Amino acid sequence: MDKTARIYVAGHRGLVGSAIVRKLKADGYTHILKRTHAELDLTDATATEAFFAEHKPEYVFLAAAKVGGIVANNTYPAEFIRDNLAIQTSVIHAAWKHGVTRLLFLGSSCIYPKHVPQPMKEEHLLTGPLEPTNRPYALAKIAGIEMCWSYNRQYGTKYLAAMPTNLYGPGDNYHPENSHVIPALIRKFHEAKARGDASVTVWGTGTPRREFLFSDDMADACVFLMSLSDDKYDSLLGSDESRTGKFEPPLINIGVGEDVTIRELAETVSEVVGYRGDIVFDTTKPDGTPRKLMDMGRLQAIGWRANTGFRSGLSRAYSDFLSHGATALG
Ligand code: GDP
Repeated sequence: MDKTARIYVAGHRGLVGSAIVRKLKADGYTHILKRTHAELDLTDATATEAFFAEHKPEYVFLAAAKVGGIVANNTYPAEFIRDNLAIQTSVIHAAWKHGVTRLLFLGSSCIYPKHVPQPMKEEHLLTGPLEPTNRPYALAKIAGIEMCWSYNRQYGTKYLAAMPTNLYGPGDNYHPENSHVIPALIRKFHEAKARGDASVTVWGTGTPRREFLFSDDMADACVFLMSLSDDKYDSLLGSDESRTGKFEPPLINIGVGEDVTIRELAETVSEVVGYRGDIVFDTTKPDGTPRKLMDMGRLQAIGWRANTGFRSGLSRAYSDFLSHGATALG
């Protein structure tokens, strides 16, 4: 990727998109295209195509999506499937029509079946039933991977799907109900400390295991993938199953290769925030998938590893929460 290449970051205000923009700027890329939701509604295929026709991006990071935690996914299932299908369809199609060189389609590890062997490998896609709490989102993302694969086969495009594990970092969504577990716990422990509460309530049993990746590490992996040499990049683009007989989607996991229990996470957040009270588990709230750990073999084989430690990532996320105080709590 040339430093002057036209690079479109779809979803540049989100957790991943904003981290990608920070990384691109830090690396000296000069032509970064961004549009807010108000400026360009990506569910509108006509408007999306007009944008591609005018600006002719060469590289696309497709980080725009409707995302949220377990409760948001359960409450707004129609929006989760509809918006995500619409956004990715508009962008992937416009990218093909306007000759985009490489496109990175981002999703999440919930594309893998609920009871999949751990750690989850790319080849485990579509091998079993999905976790019902986020199935609408997951199915939209699986359709997006299939779309990348189909366009690659039929049109010779170079679209790659990169699926991160659970992410956290600066600019996260700290909504008390709709956020993911890390920002939710940062806020809960911070408020409990400020009020002097005797205990903090954490959802579920505390036994589910999750792997967490700092958003700046995710961005680093995304830019690394986009910048790979042709032979390495092309080796990730999947094969035509009708010819090879092999199930090889254009898919790569992005994670850290280690997981923690929700109880361990809660204890660590409590320490980082400096909260001294008790942790109570509300077992009436859902646990979701019992375990989610990515197999990192594919990404490690081409030479990438996460480099932010868990505690240091959590401290940076908490500093971000503190410095954005009022807006984060809005
Ligand atoms: P998931 O990875 O798709 O299940 O998404 P989440 O990040 O929403 O939840 C991860 C795990 O953290 C689940 O087992 C939740 O029950 C648990 N959890 C505990 N407390 C909270 C909380 O306050 N908010 C959220 N979102 N999850 C919580």
